[in-house]
Amino acid sequence: MNNTAKKDTTPLVESSYYEAVTAAIRSEAKRLLEAGEVTAVIGYTGGRRKGSAQPAIVTEAAAADTLVFSPSSVNNLSLYLTKAKKEVKKGGKVAIVAKGCDLKALAGLMGESQLKRENLFIIGISCAGVHGTGIAPSEPLSAASIARKCRECSVHMPEGVDFTAGTLPKLEPLTAIESEELARLEAMTPAERWAFWRSHLSRCIRCLACRQVCPFCYCEQCLCDRNRPQGVESTPRPAGNMGWHIVRAMHLAGRCAGCAECERSCPMDIPLNLLNRKMARELKELYGQEAGMEPQEKGPLTQYKEDDDQSFIK
Ligand code: SF4
Ligand code: SF4
Ligand code: SF4
Repeated sequence: MNNTAKKDTTPLVESSYYEAVTAAIRSEAKRLLEAGEVTAVIGYTGGRRKGSAQPAIVTEAAAADTLVFSPSSVNNLSLYLTKAKKEVKKGGKVAIVAKGCDLKALAGLMGESQLKRENLFIIGISCAGVHGTGIAPSEPLSAASIARKCRECSVHMPEGVDFTAGTLPKLEPLTAIESEELARLEAMTPAERWAFWRSHLSRCIRCLACRQVCPFCYCEQCLCDRNRPQGVESTPRPAGNMGWHIVRAMHLAGRCAGCAECERSCPMDIPLNLLNRKMARELKELYGQEAGMEPQEKGPLTQYKEDDDQSFIK
């Protein structure tokens, strides 16, 4: 999606804010590794381009000074704690750098028995925001460059963490884009909505980047990869695309943490997080449940109660 709709490039925070968060992460990571409290720290390190940040796993105290936090620290690092990355956890307790929106994914993974809190040291970030897609890493955080999810963030301050890096600067409110987008979707007739999604999903090339980057797509055998029998047509044709996206949306309903990593990774600019957010709203209205609020929560679509409404069965 277009993150440059607002062209105001005035920096939202001083660069010293990111420097202070970086310094705090480094000193805590160093302390943890020196004391042997954790075997690894999952965080961000600088990339080749000025200001860029990419996921990194640091296992030596001497390397703690390579860790950074910048507006480019976009990845949801909880992905590195799923079954797909077994090698990361095998050494024992690990530390992870987590923004407020990433914490919801950690809580969800704990609720699904993929993680144990006691095996984790969480370095939470007092988070002013990160870049949206397509922004040069060296650009300061501004109304024009900030990710859409950050414009209406409710989790700038991490809760329930073991250490908090940095101090949150004063943040001016920004115009909401995601809520307006959801309101526009909900105002459509069913036929308009169908046409809207068919048009967007027809662009899908089935690269599966959205699946690979999602912390909740950790099944070792994805239904969509099965070909004997085939669950979902794998070529990027309209019926298969619709099948894949319906499976994906239903599989993540009540579980999706709303990190927007799927949407950020999509090369075809498909508004995946709009679909996620619509599903999340439906689940909240129907079951009063919100993903990622409590680690012990099971999603409403993954548990059965004898008094569940059965009236839809004819
Ligand atoms: S949504 Fe909130 S916690 Fe997440 S990156 Fe944006 S500002 Fe930080
Ligand atoms: S990342 Fe985008 S193009 Fe790739 S499979 Fe997902 S929706 Fe389709
Ligand atoms: S579906 Fe997308 S927004 Fe939801 S947890 Fe997965 S990557 Fe994050």
